Amino acid sequence: MEPLDPHGPQPLSGAERGAVSPLPPLRAGEGGRGGEVFQPFELSLLGSEYGNMLSCVRCGQCLTSCPTYVLSGREAEGPRGRVALARAVQEGVLPLTADLLQHEQNCLICDACTAVCPAGVHMDPLQVAFRTAVEPHVRRGRKERLIRKVVFKHLFTNMGLFRLLVLGLWLYQALGIQKRARALGIVKLLGMEQAEAFLPKVSRPFLVPKGERYAAEAGADATPVSFFAGCVMSTAMADVDRATIRVLQRAGCDVVNTAGQGCCGALNAHSGDLETAKELARRNIEAFERDGDAAIVVNSAGCGAMLKDYAHHFRDDPAWTARAKAFSERVEDVTELLAGRDLPMRRNLDIAVTYQEPCHLAHAQRIVQPPRLLLRSIPGLELREMAESSLCCGSAGVYNLTNPKESRQLQQRKLDHAAATTASVIVTANPGCLIQLQSGLDERGDRTSVKHIVELLDEATAPD
Ligand code: SF4
Ligand code: SF4
Repeated sequence: MEPLDPHGPQPLSGAERGAVSPLPPLRAGEGGRGGEVFQPFELSLLGSEYGNMLSCVRCGQCLTSCPTYVLSGREAEGPRGRVALARAVQEGVLPLTADLLQHEQNCLICDACTAVCPAGVHMDPLQVAFRTAVEPHVRRGRKERLIRKVVFKHLFTNMGLFRLLVLGLWLYQALGIQKRARALGIVKLLGMEQAEAFLPKVSRPFLVPKGERYAAEAGADATPVSFFAGCVMSTAMADVDRATIRVLQRAGCDVVNTAGQGCCGALNAHSGDLETAKELARRNIEAFERDGDAAIVVNSAGCGAMLKDYAHHFRDDPAWTARAKAFSERVEDVTELLAGRDLPMRRNLDIAVTYQEPCHLAHAQRIVQPPRLLLRSIPGLELREMAESSLCCGSAGVYNLTNPKESRQLQQRKLDHAAATTASVIVTANPGCLIQLQSGLDERGDRTSVKHIVELLDEATAPD
């Protein structure tokens, strides 16, 4: 962490902190000013992040790194404001107004504030707890509730169903239905234009984890690793998963595609469904325990951050605390692992690329240099840094669907910065960023391509 600026605002001392006595948190059954009566489970969840909330010393060091504050300049749209609002709800000082909820839900959970906070405030678990605790009190239409139920309770919990859905999307694209539906205005008529624009080009066949093994290229001294395939990555982006496995093999890893694994639960947790996210986490922990204690390699920054957060989410569950901690400690992003290994570079890639840092890699996992080191190690490749590389691209899970206006502003800002480098490829390391940037480029008619970093490493290390 950077040392504090001696001329800037300073954190309060322990005595000073003590002088700012917080109001006692609400008790179960007590109403806040808005009359909401929180259930014991909701209150204990909010309360579990109360210390996190109290850590905020209101120094404001996080403000200029927060995308929504940068866009709006409003206190309530910044980390400090969001912590204060969540704390006021927890203390029963403020009612859960639509306005308050909107400020919290505008948070991208990008953790840019977390990465610079000198007091150790951690926004991701605070938002997960807040959103889950208030979810029963959020007014949603019947259609929205139904969609949430189908997606979060059925789709992400059942990989068979998930694959069936993505197979349908593949057919929709492969049979030319997508083009015709767009041309005839059917997509617009169905009110699906916005969601449809974010459909990635689906790759086939899918990668179905069955415990299959992929041997290291040079067998001697191979390092065993377990592969986290992901839900979107193993279906819509299965080509990237296969490229990842090949690169790992060339880096001297024996790769196991662990059977029984599923979705990481990040989208559930960030959408206020921590209960299902933990159910998914338990399944993953059990599945990877069966494979021993090798590193769990993941190529999706968002999934990696969530997998590393399992330890936090089970910290108060005696049956799972140690198992979740052991699991999280095994997780490594693919760039983190590869940067420390020898990769046989066999081809020149004479291209100029720019790197878009996924928030969940740069901020949540603090992995900044490894992807850059890997890119610079590719012969012939020129890395051109873009401005604001680590400012969120606006994808943030389903943020581009729930907050289209802010998401688009961030997307366009990112694409402008990328275009200023005149690089022909934007490199990133997260499926959400890939989809978000590609969708913006398509709309602009810009032929710049977007690639996952392992796709370039795969190309550069492929044998003749
Ligand atoms: S969240 Fe951290 S950086 Fe931001 S105001 Fe609070 S203490 Fe300061
Ligand atoms: S997580 Fe990102 S969007 Fe949310 S308050 Fe922090 S910096 Fe702002």
